Amino acid sequence: MYILLLLSSLLFAQISDRDAYLRWSRHLTSESHPEPNYRYLSEIHLQIAKQIQQTGHTIGPIRIGKTVENRTIWGFKVAPKNTKHNSVFILGGIHPMEWVSVESATNLILHLADHPPAHTEVIVVPVLNVDRRLIVERELSDGSRKYRRVNSGGEDLNRDYEIHREATAIWRHLFPERYTTSSAPLSQPESQAIDTLFQEYQFEASVSIHAFGGYIYYPWAGRYYPTKAQTEFHHLGTLMKQAQSGKHPYHVKQLSHWMFLFRAQGTELDHFYGKYNSRAFLIESTRSGIHWWKRGDWKDSFRLYNPRDPSLDIRRCTESILALIHHYDLLIDNPNWECPCQEHLRD
Ligand SMILES: [Zn+2]
Repeated sequence: MYILLLLSSLLFAQISDRDAYLRWSRHLTSESHPEPNYRYLSEIHLQIAKQIQQTGHTIGPIRIGKTVENRTIWGFKVAPKNTKHNSVFILGGIHPMEWVSVESATNLILHLADHPPAHTEVIVVPVLNVDRRLIVERELSDGSRKYRRVNSGGEDLNRDYEIHREATAIWRHLFPERYTTSSAPLSQPESQAIDTLFQEYQFEASVSIHAFGGYIYYPWAGRYYPTKAQTEFHHLGTLMKQAQSGKHPYHVKQLSHWMFLFRAQGTELDHFYGKYNSRAFLIESTRSGIHWWKRGDWKDSFRLYNPRDPSLDIRRCTESILALIHHYDLLIDNPNWECPCQEHLRD
């Protein structure tokens, strides 16, 4: 009996991530819910699993770690068409209310499955805070639209990283609650999984997607002074902005310059650049879904982050990220290629 158990657990440990994902997703079911323009996690994974089966090995699921409640955090690796030269990382669903972030990351996976980049490998983690995301889903279905931000360990996964944890801004004495971090660097299994991923892959560039604001931010978030790569950051950010459809694309800015007294300590943005030298961006997707003339919206924390129709914001986010990936592809194909944005930088 014990030998059988041991054998089966050994077998299970050895099944590939792809098989494990397809097997797991087979048991998912989709239900109707009050946000028809958004997908619940079961719908997202059913769709990705179907795409994986149709497109073969372009997308490979990877188990990047476990959440506090021991759920698998899934990542999806998109292999380039030709020789690999660069790696780009995309992270969504850090905060559980920000569904427009998860939709954009999912959209990107489905798009890249059909149109893989030429030389750039892309790894997308569409939902990091799986535990609390599932709670928000249950609450929406039950008709309660509560505000949620932390993970199941009670920490903000956007303040759980190593770089710039200590606040230095003079304003911290006036508004101490604005400059807080998690209890310790990389205190949560979700953040540890992301840090391990960075050790394994040298991501040239990375984007974490949040809501709301309508900004494409680059480091630093925890210090007011610029990074050494300020010019390059602004250039890449402008490329991402120019790729967006419609009027009034998102603004490009150093995160700490959003407002003179604003800083964010211990963010993934500063960690990805400060520790790993990745060209890191943080997109605050959408300018909110609240209609100020609709009284019912005022207390709706879900609507604050997620417009009723998120299609334009999903599209813009995807366009910006594809432009960044494309940039890394072009760099390989034409080492002397000069981006049109450089002209603008010389002005
Ligand atoms: Zn967020």
